[in-house]
Amino acid sequence: MRRWNTPGFPHKGWTHCYVEDLGAPTHCCEMCGIERVRFAHRMEHHSFPQALLVGRTCAAKMTDPYYTTVEVVVAREDQLRRRAGRRRAWTSRGWEPSIFKPGAKRVVVDKKEFVVFPVPEGVRAQVIDQVTGEVFGGGKVFENWQQAALAMFDWCWPARTKENSR
Ligand SMILES: [Zn+2]
Repeated sequence: MRRWNTPGFPHKGWTHCYVEDLGAPTHCCEMCGIERVRFAHRMEHHSFPQALLVGRTCAAKMTDPYYTTVEVVVAREDQLRRRAGRRRAWTSRGWEPSIFKPGAKRVVVDKKEFVVFPVPEGVRAQVIDQVTGEVFGGGKVFENWQQAALAMFDWCWPARTKENSR
């Protein structure tokens, strides 16, 4: 129980900043040194210079009040878990041929049009916001359309919750 047993180390009063889905339990909790973490919670404290990436159990204990925090922490992980499920299904989601360019595919989700199209070097990706008309992407070249499609997914729905979102 590394830092939990360190005298003088702040054990309470941490701020929960965000959760990031690492995809697999690859990170060791920086508070207890025991928990293997897939969902890394970033915690900050005014009297400690460094942020810690910790597991959900420690994250909940480090903030106050404990029970409210557990709910917040679990809700944020659930949000990312649902996102990971949507991401797994993303390339089998009814992509259809697009008139944008020969060989292009498109899908429209949440009033955003996602387009992938072949170029001589590979595949490019572009997202068109149907509400604002804003276009982003297009600059990067991918090996195949699945990679391009997943990159667009990550632009629009990152594997990390917003700072201090509830
Ligand atoms: Zn821990």
